Amino acid sequence: MIDTQLARHRVAETNVARPVVSVVAPVYNEAPTLPLFCERVIAALEPLGEPFELVLVNDGSRDGSLDVMVELHERDPRIKVVNFSRNFGHQVAITAGIDYARGDAVAVIDSDLQDPPEVIPELLAKWREGYGIVFAQRAEREGETWFKKATAAFFYRLIRRITNVNIPVDTGDFRLMDRKVVDTLKRMREHHRFMRGLSVWVGFKQTGVEYRRAPRHAGETKYPLSKMIRFALDGITSFSYLPLQLATYFGFLIAAISMLALLAVIVLRLSNGFGLADAQGAFYGQASTLVSVLFLGGIQLIFLGIMGEYLGRIYDEVKRRPLYIVSDVLGLDEQPERTT
Ligand code: UDP
Ligand code: MG
Repeated sequence: MIDTQLARHRVAETNVARPVVSVVAPVYNEAPTLPLFCERVIAALEPLGEPFELVLVNDGSRDGSLDVMVELHERDPRIKVVNFSRNFGHQVAITAGIDYARGDAVAVIDSDLQDPPEVIPELLAKWREGYGIVFAQRAEREGETWFKKATAAFFYRLIRRITNVNIPVDTGDFRLMDRKVVDTLKRMREHHRFMRGLSVWVGFKQTGVEYRRAPRHAGETKYPLSKMIRFALDGITSFSYLPLQLATYFGFLIAAISMLALLAVIVLRLSNGFGLADAQGAFYGQASTLVSVLFLGGIQLIFLGIMGEYLGRIYDEVKRRPLYIVSDVLGLDEQPERTT
């Protein structure tokens, strides 16, 4: 009798411990948005009647976001917090959230309310149909500059062309993943992480749901141009060798042009410039020599830089530092479950 009661109690306990749905949100200086964000996530998930958790990852915020999170956790223990020792970046914050999340389905969403939490039930519906990954695809982007829209459009098309992972155009990190996908992702510990590429790379059945991307609720973007370029480089170098191979193509092209130029020089010399006064002189000019040497020097430096990009990334991998350092957690196990 007591035993069955105890057993039932244990089951209840594990039910509380193992939510069906986890929502992971990276947070970097979003204090004014957090209360409304949590409210909207809870309002979207509560009607589904299943246990859920909201894992907020504080990525070294300096605006009091942590205090807001602690308060939110105390009011509703379903809101959990992973607190980083410093800022590790958006992609790493998502990784940590995924590491700590325990749900059968894990949704990743920005905490600035650009991704409407009301879309999560739609993603869940697709997941229940048997999809491993459900992307939220932005049909419209409000409140973003034409520059951001144009560069994003260019980048996603470029990366589709030059890599063999087919990242759906116009998807961010807003998506829902099945436990199987999450466990696979957790085994990939590379440092320069391009999560939206990695989650496509793992395969499984994938589909998309369209949504309208809202403007930021408060504050400003944490992706200035320099960070956007770094991020784009991480995406390209993670999935393509094309930049390295370009050196070979360029080499062949320039060698071919030089051959033609050499032939032209020989012919002009032997024929004495076909009697044209300038034709011979053109090849003796200092300027043309200087320009061609500088041109090649420039190209060589560019490719040296490209090799450096890959080399630096290899260096980061071999150092095998942890991806992130957690200072403390609220409502979660100290150590996340690792699949490796
Ligand atoms: N973010 C983060 N760490 C960072 C930068 C951003 O955790 O170093 C979070 C940020 O709080 C937001 C999400 O990542 O929830 C997306 O960032 P942001 O809105 O600035 O990017 P954008 O939407 O402008 O591309
Ligand atoms: Mg944003």
